[in-house]
Amino acid sequence: MSTAKISGGCLCGGLRYEADQAPGLAGFCCCADCRKASGSGFIPFMSFPAAVIRFTGEARPFRSTSYRGGEAVRNFCPACGGLVFGGEIGKDDRHTVYAGSLDDASAFEPAVAIFLRDKPDWVELPTGIATFELMPG
Ligand SMILES: [Zn+2]
Ligand SMILES: [Zn+2]
Repeated sequence: MSTAKISGGCLCGGLRYEADQAPGLAGFCCCADCRKASGSGFIPFMSFPAAVIRFTGEARPFRSTSYRGGEAVRNFCPACGGLVFGGEIGKDDRHTVYAGSLDDASAFEPAVAIFLRDKPDWVELPTGIATFELMPG
């Protein structure tokens, strides 16, 4: 994995992020909520500790009930509607970044797919990644 900075943002460039290190867990979330939120079959995600990633610009959060019963927060740009990251700034100790927002899309190295139970048949996952009916562990 590269040690270069990882950066990205929404379609209009109003909501941006920069991370100092490569992500931890990266993969595809096939849960029904990510499908609805993205308008796609899954969301490609990367997980970062909150301490290594900085966000700039206005983020509009949307809250829904998570699988574990808590709150899932997905943040999008209020101007262009692009989905950029998950989690609440200043509250959560990790953030999920949606990999489609990367400036360099090749920085995404998926290793897992989660919530296979919700995956539509028309989504074909790459071979060689670990898959989970729900979450790992
Ligand atoms: Zn935008
Ligand atoms: Zn999901």
